[in-house]
Amino acid sequence: MKKVIVIGGGPAGMFAALAAAQNGHSVSLLEKNEKLGKKLYITGKGRCNITNAGDVDTLFENVMTNRKFLYSAFYAYDNQRVIDFFETHGVRTKIERGNRVFPYSDHSSDVIAALKRALVNAGVNIHLHTCVKELLVEDLRCRGAVLEDGTKEMADAVILATGGFSYQSTGSTGDGYRFARACGHQVTEIEPALVPFNVKETYVTEMQGLALKNVRVTIRQEKKILFEDFGEMLFTHFGVSGPLCLSASSKVGKELKKGDLDMRIDLKPALTEEQLDHRLLRDFEENQNKQFKNALQGLLPAKMLPVVIELSDIFTDKKVNEITKEERNRLLHLLKQFPVTLTGLRDFNEAIITKGGVVVKEVNPATMESKLVSGLYFAGEVLDLDALTGGFNLQIAWSTGYLAGDSIV
Ligand SMILES: Cc1cc2nc3c(=O)[nH]c(=O)nc-3n(C[C@H](O)[C@H](O)[C@H](O)COP(=O)(O)OP(=O)(O)OC[C@H]3O[C@@H](n4cnc5c(N)ncnc54)[C@H](O)[C@@H]3O)c2cc1C
Repeated sequence: MKKVIVIGGGPAGMFAALAAAQNGHSVSLLEKNEKLGKKLYITGKGRCNITNAGDVDTLFENVMTNRKFLYSAFYAYDNQRVIDFFETHGVRTKIERGNRVFPYSDHSSDVIAALKRALVNAGVNIHLHTCVKELLVEDLRCRGAVLEDGTKEMADAVILATGGFSYQSTGSTGDGYRFARACGHQVTEIEPALVPFNVKETYVTEMQGLALKNVRVTIRQEKKILFEDFGEMLFTHFGVSGPLCLSASSKVGKELKKGDLDMRIDLKPALTEEQLDHRLLRDFEENQNKQFKNALQGLLPAKMLPVVIELSDIFTDKKVNEITKEERNRLLHLLKQFPVTLTGLRDFNEAIITKGGVVVKEVNPATMESKLVSGLYFAGEVLDLDALTGGFNLQIAWSTGYLAGDSIV
């Protein structure tokens, strides 16, 4: 039996502590907050998208950075095991669109309560309000940790599961990067990811709060398509957000650093240009004596109408039967390619995850142990790993946490 310290009571740390305790070790879980799983609580808008029920290939495909590193972790503890774990610990689950797995109750608090029960049953000593200041390393071996009040906690193994640098109010303040660097580990440059965009056009603010469902978004750098997908997005007071834009941020964030990017929203993706033109002609025929500004009601959400009308450059009071073919074409073009210029990403406080972290080539993928300092293990977002939305980031936390805890022998 070994004495194990796990730093960080997020999903990765809780799973690491559980796996180590189930192997008979004496485990202390140190969490600086007043409770466990503060970030987990706000995941999935409070519903917690626990994992994704797709096949293992889908798990890998949705990892954006260092997917090969996750081979052993995903196979050691895959998504089905995560679902089984929660089901056997009293959390009934359900699968929604895109294979997203949620607790049946829609409450992330049920997920956290199940984890807490499992930790207590496994005999893990949970220490809340306990902030680690630094690691104790001697002769390239991790011997424990020093707490903020100066107390030294000795251990045979330490698992670092301090998370990333986003939503810092949840406790993820990047401490783990500092600890890793002090041990000689490299940490890549970190960036916010799965994060909304700032945009140039001021007209987006007029549409703030408007969610568009079933639209196609295309992001280009000059003529090159960087991102194209179909789904849901949202206008905000600064720019654009929502599932489509968050996913896009992980794919185009790097290019955006080099300059603005052109985003086009196809508001009618189910219709070809020809079909949409027929639809416009039909609408115009039905409303031929109305003013243009009153003729588009059925076509667009109310908040978008003034903006589209303005951009179409068609005189608002013009009678519909006076609209020229050229003007109708301009309107059609707007509906198929509504323009938005992306100027940058929002900051870490709005980022679902942190891109970058502890360099994985210095960590053994089969055990999560440091290749530089023995007895030091890593789990979760502190590592240079990130995935798209859909439950994949939590799957990374569960899998790497489990593998780290289970590897201590
Ligand atoms: C708004 C939001 C919604 C999300 N929704 C989803 C979702 O539905 N599905 C999904 O898959 N992913 C989601 N994510 C991402 C997911 O929450 C993270 O990837 C995951 O929480 C990472 O787990 P972790 O255990 O590595 O880190 P964290 O959850 O960040 O936990 C790290 C813990 O370490 C503690 N800690 C840090 N430093 C110290 C220290 N020095 N001493 C002691 N303790 C310390 C922190 O207080 C924290 O509790 C969401 C993220 C956000 C912000």
